[in-house]
Amino acid sequence: MELLKTVRDVQKYCFSYQKEGLPVGLVPTMGALHEGHLSLVNTSRKENKATLASIFVNPIQFNNASDLAKYPRTLEKDMEMLEKAGCNAVFAPSEQEMYVSKPTVTMDFGDLERVMEGAFRPGHFSGVGVVVSKLFNIVQPDHAYFGQKDLQQFLVIQQMVKDLSFRVTLHCCPIIREADGLAMSSRNVRLTIQNRPVAARIYESLRLAESMLHEEGVEKTKQAVGAFLAAYPELQPEYFEIADGITLEPVKDLKAHTEIALCTAVFLDGVRLIDNMIVRTSFH
Ligand code: AMP
Repeated sequence: MELLKTVRDVQKYCFSYQKEGLPVGLVPTMGALHEGHLSLVNTSRKENKATLASIFVNPIQFNNASDLAKYPRTLEKDMEMLEKAGCNAVFAPSEQEMYVSKPTVTMDFGDLERVMEGAFRPGHFSGVGVVVSKLFNIVQPDHAYFGQKDLQQFLVIQQMVKDLSFRVTLHCCPIIREADGLAMSSRNVRLTIQNRPVAARIYESLRLAESMLHEEGVEKTKQAVGAFLAAYPELQPEYFEIADGITLEPVKDLKAHTEIALCTAVFLDGVRLIDNMIVRTSFH
C-alpha cells in the first residue's frame, strides 16, 4: 500500500490507472478508523481497480475548537488496518498541503443544511463541501464511498455533485454497528467505560421510534423518544427529527413521504454522537 503525502503524488498515482481506463474508488475519512470505514473500503475494492482512502482531519468543518483538538489521530494504526483491508493507497496530507492558506470559498446548501447537523454546527457543511470538492479534483475518482452514518453529509455531497457537475458516482453504504447497536464512530473511544453501555440507548431510541411511527404518528413518537432518553440522565439529546429521507424537511403527514429518516444527535460524556435510521412508509 502506498502512502501519498502530496497532491502531486496522488495525481501521478491515480493517473497511472486513469490512463488505462481503470476505475479508481475514493474513500474520504478523518482517520481513527474502525469497521465502518473499512466497510467502505471493502465495497470500493469490489467495484474499482484501485481504492484510495484519504485521511485528513479537516479543520474547516469543525465549528468547535475543542472537538477539533480532541479528535483522535492514529495514523500508524489506520495504515495497518487499511493495508489489511486491501486498500491500495492512502492520501494523508498535512494541513499545509491541503490548504496553503485558509480557503475563501464557502458553500451553502440551502434548506438541506438549515436542519439538524447544519443547524447545530454552523459552517460545518461548507467545510465538508470544500474539502470533498478538493479531494474530487485531486483524485478524480470514478466512484466515491460515504456512510449513511452521516446521512445529511451524504445528501449535501449528492447535491454538490449535481450542482457542480462532478464526474463521480456516489455510493451511500450502510451503518456498521457495535454488537449492542451503537453506531461505530471515531468519537466512541472518548466515552468513559462507565457510560459506554448507556450509548446503546441511542440506537434503541431509534428502534422505538421505528416501531411506533406508523401506528402513533409523528408527535407521539417524538414524545416517546424524548421520554425514553430522559430516563438516562447521562444522555443529553440535542435533536431527534423525523424527516423526509431525501430532502430532510420535517415530516408532518406521514402519507406525504415514501422514505423517512429518523435522525438524532446526543451528547454523552461531552462527546457528540449521531445516528439515524431510514424507514419506508407503507402508504405508497
Ligand atoms: P469520518 O472519518 O467520521 O469523517 O467518516 C468517514 C466516512 O466513513 C464517512 O462517509 C462516514 O459516514 C463513514 N462512516 C463513519 N462511521 C460509519 C459507520 N459506523 N458505518 C458506516 N460508515 C461510517
